[in-house]
Amino acid sequence: MSEHTSRTELNELGEFGLIERIASRVRLQHASSVKGIGDDAAVYEPRGHQVVTTDMLVEGVHFDLGYVPLKHLGYKSVVVNVSDVLAMNAVPRRITVSVALSNRFPVEAIDELYEGVLLACTNYGVDLVGGDTCSSPSGLVISVTAIGEAAPEELVYRSGARDNDLLVVSGDLGGAFMGLQVLEREKAVFKETGAQPDLTGHDYILERQLKPEARQDITALLQQLGVRPTAMIDISDGLASEAIHIARSSGLGVRIYDEKIPIDPSTYDAARAFNLDPSTCALNGGEDYELLFTVAQADYERIKGNPSITVIGHMTDQASGHHLVDKQGGLHELRAQGWDAFLRR
Ligand code: ADP
Ligand code: MG
Repeated sequence: MSEHTSRTELNELGEFGLIERIASRVRLQHASSVKGIGDDAAVYEPRGHQVVTTDMLVEGVHFDLGYVPLKHLGYKSVVVNVSDVLAMNAVPRRITVSVALSNRFPVEAIDELYEGVLLACTNYGVDLVGGDTCSSPSGLVISVTAIGEAAPEELVYRSGARDNDLLVVSGDLGGAFMGLQVLEREKAVFKETGAQPDLTGHDYILERQLKPEARQDITALLQQLGVRPTAMIDISDGLASEAIHIARSSGLGVRIYDEKIPIDPSTYDAARAFNLDPSTCALNGGEDYELLFTVAQADYERIKGNPSITVIGHMTDQASGHHLVDKQGGLHELRAQGWDAFLRR
């Protein structure tokens, strides 16, 4: 946890004081948010279909305050929800944020957390319209619900892929996982020797882990190109697992070409330094929050050559299964080895 110049105890402020303190910093951006924080429930005027999603982050399970600054945690907790809304091809509009706090956190720490939450609200154009606050015996829990909107015909499900559709991914993969490896290593070194963490040269992968962004620019780009994905999912658990989700939901098989998987040079170098296979990190690492989607072959001309997106494979019939194709053309069965909330890593 970062150091604070002053420390105000949570019980000095009380629950209502804290809610008022949060509410005083919120500026609603949308006239359609009719009532925000301050009544029994928020009120908003819907436009089109509404999409709703929730993600909960639990200290010790999803984050470690030993190396995650609270502002980053607040930001990321909004981003992961916005990313789910975008993966439905909807536009995020509103969020609620619920927190369980122990009195080990001073008011200044909660201010930092909300600084991140509100920065994300500004960056993604969403209104913070409510939430809940309660106490926790020790750990921090933060749960965000996001609400987005789309015309019914714009919504994209995991189940819409067709045989032969191209499989496309935004950005690059494996960086968030390698960032986590660096943070975990430096934490272990610090525990053992007390040496200050050496994070030099790892800016990109650390940012991928600590300050991920949801790809609102990609859904906007596709709209601009006149391309509607047939299926879409965001990459929270790893490419392999998400590709299998699309294939299963669509009743198809999938093929990913190893050499096509976009990996940043700094991710590649870090993986090598850790004696890990860079492709495996991209396939199973997770937390990249890139968008994975399928498009009809006929849309290839519209998307080709765009630096923000890469065609990495295609859908097949169901009987062909889920495979990674190596450089020699050999087939390897894809396995969903990414993050599973009920498996310990
Ligand atoms: P109630 O007892 O009716 O649930 P609360 O005291 O929990 O009311 O909440 C009062 C108002 O403050 C509501 O508008 C609620 O959405 C909002 N609120 C409570 N906690 C938070 C929070 N952590 N962040 C944002 N808004 C919050
Ligand atoms: Mg409440």
